[in-house]
Amino acid sequence: MVLEAAGSPLQATELERPTPEPGQVLLRVRACGICRTDLHIVDGELTRPKLPLVPGHQIVGEAEDGRRLGVPWLGWTCGECRFCTSGRENLCDRARFTGYDLDGGYAEWCVADERFCFPIPDGFGDLEAAPLLCAGLIGYRAFRLAGEGERLGLYGFGAAAHIVAQVARHEGRRIYAVTREGDEAAQAFARSLGAEWAGSGRPPEELDAALIFAPAGELVPAALAAVAKGGVVVCAGIHMSDIPSFPYELLWGERVLRSVANLTRRDGEDFLALAPRVPVRTEVDTFPLEQANEALAKLRRGDVRGALVLAP
Ligand SMILES: [Zn+2]
Ligand SMILES: [Zn+2]
Repeated sequence: MVLEAAGSPLQATELERPTPEPGQVLLRVRACGICRTDLHIVDGELTRPKLPLVPGHQIVGEAEDGRRLGVPWLGWTCGECRFCTSGRENLCDRARFTGYDLDGGYAEWCVADERFCFPIPDGFGDLEAAPLLCAGLIGYRAFRLAGEGERLGLYGFGAAAHIVAQVARHEGRRIYAVTREGDEAAQAFARSLGAEWAGSGRPPEELDAALIFAPAGELVPAALAAVAKGGVVVCAGIHMSDIPSFPYELLWGERVLRSVANLTRRDGEDFLALAPRVPVRTEVDTFPLEQANEALAKLRRGDVRGALVLAP
């Protein structure tokens, strides 16, 4: 499924099977998760994709020797810049991203730099494993950067939050899920995964940290207002609407506001080792590959429980 131009539907296209270059592995795609970032690319909010582009960066593929490998968003880094050489390859100036700078997994076949692939843990089916590769990894990085506080707010209860909630409960954290007003399905889903409270507006207790997964800038001052002194607010998405101006008082008291960008291979190794121990159970809604446009439309409407996955 190919994006020819931002703002247009993906086109079902017959492409040559890609040929791996040295260091790359050829994978038969068994599942590819759909991420909100894909929607930002297709809708033109991320403005410099390679075109034409095969989107998709949560790929579970099978190598020719039978190994199951996961391909994440971070597809290549230079290994030389000051970020790469200081454990921050997620910030590499020359990084290439799967399904953005490189063709991704909305396809039957793909190639990937093997150094950036992860073995898929046993015990996860192909479809269930796919959302671990971005919703899981980025969610986990955001969760780690939020610190050790007990009371955790999750703003937007989609694919990432439904995984983070399970990891957070496993660590004994208390979860407060903030959804859009009236989204009772998402609130019930959050409670079923251990949220102590789920609703819209301000949680009934002060938070120690808040993770913002919804791409809505107005949630930033709302989350700052909900966290205690010394609390952390992490914006976990790659794109967000503008943040409205807010009084300094909301940041005062050593509150921290930060974003999370991309992932490191270390995040992937840590999270994929942890996921089977929780154990994380992803809830997936599967579409055939050729219905990628319908699946993206469903995500755009916000009408998804858990994660969307394409199956060739
Ligand atoms: Zn993603
Ligand atoms: Zn670099």
